[in-house]
Amino acid sequence: MPPRSPSPLLPLDALKRAGLAGTAAQAAVLDYLLHAEHGHYSAEEIHRRISASGERMNLSTTYRVLNQLVDAGLVASVPLGKHHSLYELNTGKAHDHLVCVVCGRVEEFSDPAFDRRRNAIAKKFGMRFVGKTLALQGVCAECTARAHPPRTRT
Ligand SMILES: [Zn+2]
Ligand SMILES: [Zn+2]
Repeated sequence: MPPRSPSPLLPLDALKRAGLAGTAAQAAVLDYLLHAEHGHYSAEEIHRRISASGERMNLSTTYRVLNQLVDAGLVASVPLGKHHSLYELNTGKAHDHLVCVVCGRVEEFSDPAFDRRRNAIAKKFGMRFVGKTLALQGVCAECTARAHPPRTRT
């Protein structure tokens, strides 16, 4: 008998397994993240895309649902400060982020040496590092080039 291919993850199953009620709004947000290209999305963007698909949901519901999904471990948030976060499907793979402060481009990385250093710094202050994700801010090469275009000779 050929091995059974894993059944596609249904949002409602995942929600129930995570102990959530599985409301239509929760299912819509999770469904979007399950089917979107892996990436990091703002609540506004998720709300816009879901609304565009004909689902009726207001932005505050989107925020509330995202928080519920983060608490349940289905979604990970990337805090960018000033009450602004990006959201991604929680794949269970710990990683950090580098975010361009100009265009918002997000790069993922995981670096064991960086993790060790971070833990050592926390330990030095008698703390245990519990932050799951950290967004380092920078300006990407394209934005740097746009801000400082190379001089062309005339
Ligand atoms: Zn950029
Ligand atoms: Zn990520």
